[in-house]
Formats: sequence, C-alpha cells, structure tokens
Amino acid sequence: PDTTTDIPDEVRARHTELCQELDDHSYRYYLGRPVISDAEYDALMGELRGIEESYPALVTQDSPTQKVGAPISVDFAAVEHLVRMESLGNAFDVDELNAWADRASAEVPVNGYLCELKIDGLAVDLVYERGRLVRAATRGDGRVGEDITLNVRTIDVIPERLDESVRPAPELLEVRGEVFLPVEDFGRLNERITASGHPPFANPRNAAAGSLRQKDPRVTATRPLSMIVHGVGAYVPAGGSGSGGDGGEDVAFTSQSQAYRLLGEWGLPTSDLYRVVPTMDGVREYVSHYAAHRHEPAYEIDGIVIKVDDFSLQRRLGSTSRVPRWAIAYKYPPEEVTTRLLDIKVGV
Ligand code: NAD
Repeated sequence: PDTTTDIPDEVRARHTELCQELDDHSYRYYLGRPVISDAEYDALMGELRGIEESYPALVTQDSPTQKVGAPISVDFAAVEHLVRMESLGNAFDVDELNAWADRASAEVPVNGYLCELKIDGLAVDLVYERGRLVRAATRGDGRVGEDITLNVRTIDVIPERLDESVRPAPELLEVRGEVFLPVEDFGRLNERITASGHPPFANPRNAAAGSLRQKDPRVTATRPLSMIVHGVGAYVPAGGSGSGGDGGEDVAFTSQSQAYRLLGEWGLPTSDLYRVVPTMDGVREYVSHYAAHRHEPAYEIDGIVIKVDDFSLQRRLGSTSRVPRWAIAYKYPPEEVTTRLLDIKVGV
C-alpha cells in the first residue's frame, strides 16, 4: 500500500505515537537526562522504521527516521554549522556490517578502512580562524547547534590556539569530535555531586552532556571533561584556498588518517587507538578485539566506527539526508545490568 488512504488506523496511530515518543526521548537525551536505555530507544526506532518501510506514505521530513539529533534549547544562542553535522548509520551484527561494505565497494574501489572507537559522549563542533578557537557548538539538529564556546574553553585538552611549530595554522578549520568524561573521573564526580545534595548522573555520557550544557561556565570548569576529534568540516588552508601565498603552506586533507595526523600536529586531541586496515577481515578483527576489551579505553564506548579512509572516495560515496554512506557505526549489544539478587539464597 502506498497511498495514505490504505493505512489502517491502528498503524497510523502507532506511527504518530512512536514519532512523539522518540522526539521526546531525543530531547531528554541531549540534555543528559534520558529515561530509557539506548537499546530501548533503538528498538522503538526499529519499530518506526519497520512501519515506514511497509507504509512509505507515512515518511515525512520531520519523522525521527529522517532527522539528526533534537531541536536546540533556548538556553544557548543558535549557531549555524559551516558544514552540516551528520549522524551515523548503524550495524547491529556482522551481516549488516558486511552489507554496508558491499554497498560501498560496489560503488567505489575501497582501498582501506579506518576503524576507531565509538566514544559514548556528545558531538561538539569547533571553529578555528587563523589558528584561534572562535566558536564551539553542540550538533543540535545537524544544521544549527547551540553556542557553548565559553564552556568548551574550560576543557584542558582543547587548544585555544593551534600549535604552529610543524606548519602554519589554516585560514579556517572546522573540526568535530566527541566530548566525554573519563570513566575514572565519573565516580569521583558523582560523589562530589551527591555530597552537595544533587542527584548523581546515571552514566559518564549523561554527566558529560549535563556538564557541557551548564549555563555557568565556572561549573563546567570543575568537571574533568575531555575530547577526541573525529572529523573535519569546513577547511581553508593557510594562504587562502589555492595559491599558498604569504609563506602559508597549502596542505590538503587526503584521507581520514592523514587528517588525524595533521590535526594532531596542530595540537588537537586525536586518538591513538584507531587502525587503518586494507580489507573487511581487518575490520572484523578490530570489532571482535574491542568486543572483548571494551572496558580498556579510558572512556566508555558503545561500538566501533568504520570509515572509508580515502577522502576522494568519501566524497564519491556522499550522504543520505542524515548519515554518510562512507561510514557506519557497529553497535555492541547493550551490557546487561545484572543484580546479584537471584543468586542470594534465602533460607526457608
Ligand atoms: P549515534 O550515537 O548512533 O552515532 C553518531 C554519533 O556518534 C556522532 O554524531 C558522533 O558524535 C558520535 N561518535 C562517537 N565516536 C565517533 C567516531 N569515532 N567517529 C564519528 N562519530 C563518532 O547517533 P546519534 O544520532 O548521535 O544518536 C542516536 C543514538 O543515541 C541512538 O541510537 C541511541 O543509542 C541514543 N539515544 C538514546 C536516547 C535515550 O533516550 N536513551 C535518546 C536518543 C538517542
């Protein structure tokens, strides 16, 4: 059925209900106060996708399946990103991961995959003009985010000025990354918060989101936030967009891994846990390695992100309305929160 008149009332009602619920959960999540688990959210989203696949007439531009993030709050000024920020498609098992790789390889000759950890934090956009940090914003709906510059300036690992000892800073550089709270600091922060009479955060991600969206940057400054960059937005090399005049060095980004190296040399925080592998065998190895060593990194991860490394191939693959075709998130199954209650033998 593909006309709106063919849709049973109960399907239409469930669709409306799911859209409202998912919007509501997104809003709470980006404030750092979710009321359901990510797996429950993903299950509701899966149900909505299923309905829309059976009844495509129900797909509208503002369906949660078609958009990124959540509307921005009135507590911060709105800022338009120079280049749109996207979400990531998901693979929940190896078959889905292989299907993504097959689709990409059918279109372009993929010659290397970059595998990295999917940090469970929140996406932040940084803009550097001639090497100076001028703006920081949340992802928001992908086009417009919230101006959190003052809060981000309190994060130690984020340089106010790019390091120019290896090469001059670009004219303009927009980078994206994940702000997070290291696991080690999470317990201590909660102790401090509860001692001052406030409710604790449920997990490090919520703590990072809540800390970054403080109205008073002095509060954010007391939270041990960190960041790792994982993407480039707008970019104008030193000396302008082509001629490389003024002694500027006209360096271009050619791949995800080369970009990380350059960003690192400018003093931006990059990860040293990513790997570039030639084939999907290497990707699957990386995925299973971290499935078994999920808690080794200093931050919580909820999966692995796989990106086609070469930027010219990324451009050829392009994006859908909300996710790039050149990357995918492999999500690890949720970890069970087990209580020992059932193991306790109660004497009868
Ligand atoms: P996502 O978290 O599945 O993936 C996209 C994000 O991953 C990017 O925006 C980026 O910030 C982040 N990321 C982390 N490491 C990265 C890396 N190495 N490279 C690139 N990106 C990296 O998608 P989303 O749109 O941010 O959020 C949707 C997800 O959030 C849902 O699947 C669900 O798990 C969760 N969610 C939960 C609730 C809830 O109520 N519990 C509500 C809304 C969303």
